[in-house]
Amino acid sequence: MLQLEGVTVRYGDAIWALQDVNLEVAENKITALLGANGAGKTTVIRVIAGLVRPVAGVVRWEGEILSGPVEERSRQGLAVVPEGRQLWPGLTVAEHLTLAVYPVLGPRQRFRSRLPEAYQARIEQLLDQFPALRRHWRHRAETMSGGEQQMLALARALATNPKLLALDEPSVGLAPLVVEELFGRLESTVRAGMTVLLVEQNAEAALDVADWAYVLQSGRVVASGSRRDLDASGALEEAYLGRSSQAL
Ligand code: ATP
Repeated sequence: MLQLEGVTVRYGDAIWALQDVNLEVAENKITALLGANGAGKTTVIRVIAGLVRPVAGVVRWEGEILSGPVEERSRQGLAVVPEGRQLWPGLTVAEHLTLAVYPVLGPRQRFRSRLPEAYQARIEQLLDQFPALRRHWRHRAETMSGGEQQMLALARALATNPKLLALDEPSVGLAPLVVEELFGRLESTVRAGMTVLLVEQNAEAALDVADWAYVLQSGRVVASGSRRDLDASGALEEAYLGRSSQAL
C-alpha cells in the first residue's frame, strides 16, 4: 500500500538522517518501525507526510509516487498522529473532534450551526470506540490523563476515515497498562479496515501488536521481519544497545 524506495534524507550538510531506506506498509496490517533515539524514525513520518523532501528515493502510495504537499496527502487518505500528540490544551474534546471533521465539510456546510448528520454520525462512532472521550466531551484536553489525551489524538486522526494512519511514538509517557489498552484499540481499528505504521522506541509493546517490523539504526534499515525473526536474529539488541546479541 505504501512503499519507501531508496529514501535518503539529509538535514543541512552534515546530518544524514536516512540512508537508502526501503520499507513497505502492507494493507490492513500493523507495521512497526523500531529504533533507538535519533535512529531516524520521526524523519520517516515526516517524509511520508510531505514535511521533508528526500534528497534521493521516492514514496509510493497505492502504486503512485507521492509528491504533493501535506494537505493533498491528507486528502489522499494519509493521517499522522504526531509525537507529543500536539493537542490544543485549552480546547475540549468536542472542539477537537468538530475541528477534525471541519476540513472535509463543503463551504456552505461550514456556516451551518449544526454539523451535517454524516459527520455527527462519524463523531458518534468515534465516541463509541473511545468511551473515555464521551465522558470528557465538554472537558479541556489539558485536564485529561496522558492516556486519554493520546486516545483523543488518535480519534482526531481517525475522524476523516484515513486509509493509513502513521503514529509517532504514541506510548511515550504512558503506563504499561495504558499502552496495552491503546494498542488494543489500534488492533481493533486495523481489523475494522485500516492500515497502521507504528513508529516506536518501545519495541516490546509494539511487537505485541505488529504483524511485521523494521528496525532502524543510524538512518538505515538493519533488520525486518516478524517478532520471531527479530528475536532470533538479535537485531533489536544490536540496534538499541549498539552491540550484537552474541556479546550480551
Ligand atoms: P527520537 O526517538 O529521538 O524522536 P528518531 O528516531 O525519531 O529519534 P529523528 O528525529 O528522525 O530520529 O532524527 C534522526 C537524526 O536527524 C538525529 O540525528 C537527529 O538529531 C537529526 N535531526 C532530526 N531533525 C532534525 C532537524 N530538523 N535538523 C537537524 N537535524 C535533525
